[in-house]
Amino acid sequence: MIPVTIFNGKEVAIFGVGRSGLTAAQALQAGGAEPLLWDDSEKGRAAAKAQGFAVADLNSADWSRFAALVLAPGVPLTHPRPHWTVERAKAAGVEIIGDNELFCRQHRAEGSRARIIAITGTNGKSTTTALTAHILSASGRRVAMGGNIGTAVLALEPFADDLTYVLEYSSYQIDLTPGLHADAACLLNITPDHIDRHGTLEHYATVKARIFDGLGPAGVAVIGVDDELSAAIADRMTAGTGVRRISVRHPVTEGLFLRDGALVEAVWGKDAPPVKLAGIGSLRGVHNAQNAAAAFALCRAIGLSREEIAAGLETFPGLAHRMEPVARIGRVLFVNDSKATNADAAEKALASFDDIYWIAGGIAKDGGLAGLESYFPKIRRAYFIGAAAESSAREVGGGVPHRISGTLETAVHEAAADAGVSDAAEPAVLLSPACASFDQFSNFEIRGDAFRTIVEALAAGKGAEHEAV
Ligand code: ADP
Repeated sequence: MIPVTIFNGKEVAIFGVGRSGLTAAQALQAGGAEPLLWDDSEKGRAAAKAQGFAVADLNSADWSRFAALVLAPGVPLTHPRPHWTVERAKAAGVEIIGDNELFCRQHRAEGSRARIIAITGTNGKSTTTALTAHILSASGRRVAMGGNIGTAVLALEPFADDLTYVLEYSSYQIDLTPGLHADAACLLNITPDHIDRHGTLEHYATVKARIFDGLGPAGVAVIGVDDELSAAIADRMTAGTGVRRISVRHPVTEGLFLRDGALVEAVWGKDAPPVKLAGIGSLRGVHNAQNAAAAFALCRAIGLSREEIAAGLETFPGLAHRMEPVARIGRVLFVNDSKATNADAAEKALASFDDIYWIAGGIAKDGGLAGLESYFPKIRRAYFIGAAAESSAREVGGGVPHRISGTLETAVHEAAADAGVSDAAEPAVLLSPACASFDQFSNFEIRGDAFRTIVEALAAGKGAEHEAV
């Protein structure tokens, strides 16, 4: 944990008792501040009390006492309308910040030389963060990874000069971190998402671009330029800032691009020898090439050699539930992509395999399966589950042979049987639901774990033919 001493002796209001709120309370208390916690839910308040924190209704509190309001990132700051604590804080002239702001200010206050890598984007944040951290630690660097992924930022190990923090930022967290600063920062991409929380796409893009605020003179900005909004941000970056462009569509003169399944680093317009991505199972798909290119540029920015990065890429284990190969039975590969809770995410997986036995369904998202039509020819059969089974079947119609399997277990068994008699070189049984999980599972992780368990039982039944992948 990183003790936060900058509010020593002061009272700090904390609203939203989740992972980051509780950690912020611990860090502030360890640094001599007096946190006061509140949550709209009884469960949240009970969690705060259980840890021995002062809990009081911020509605009736005297706000002039507070030095700051630490807001959980899930709580609306602006859209669709500011949360009541935001109104109260503003009326009382109390600043509103997030746990990442505490981290950044403490880092500055201590004059720490620990390095900070900050990563954001609409998609691929977690993969890029985990991959960057993996490459750095594989090269022997000391790394602490967290923020929006895994560990809350203040629960990471304390500042040390030889440590590099690799931090994932959601746009909500950027909004709550006015003092954000990093040695290298990355914006992967911007596509419409969470517009309900940001008003307009332009505002969302403006918030995302703030990941580059506070980059020092030696700082490096890594920007994916394959969408218009991000490309415009790259074009607007002031001269003198180290901008590295990332593209999986076209060459760049300063940055990284994809050519024939390999990453090519361009420095001053000159191309370095390519680093192969093809064959790295955890980085299948063009979307992962974008993530790998970004991680490459970030690691270069803090001094790794191309060779160190190439070695790290090779050994990346991948993240669970994101196109995660869980087993191979004979020639059939079983892939857990439970994180794909909408058609956009499922598209990435459908694009990455050839002979697909596709398990999909759950609670349909707006737009259903629209946009996936061009992948239908690669889908040997679909197995629909959950509440959206019937509607999904109607949507694909005669375009894809399909069954209404109902449950995940039935779907896996049916898909495994069909794939097992396929003559394709590598048939893939792919769970990429394009739907939320809540009708049959509490979240996408539990759904993915269930898939793995069913596949492993199936594999155990097949004995020697099963390989862990
Ligand atoms: P995030 O943390 O931004 O949600 P993840 O790395 O967890 O992103 O990936 C979530 C899903 O988003 C993946 O399963 C994949 O479908 C999709 N995805 C990953 N990387 C990218 C990318 N660079 N561009 C577009 N989609 C991506």
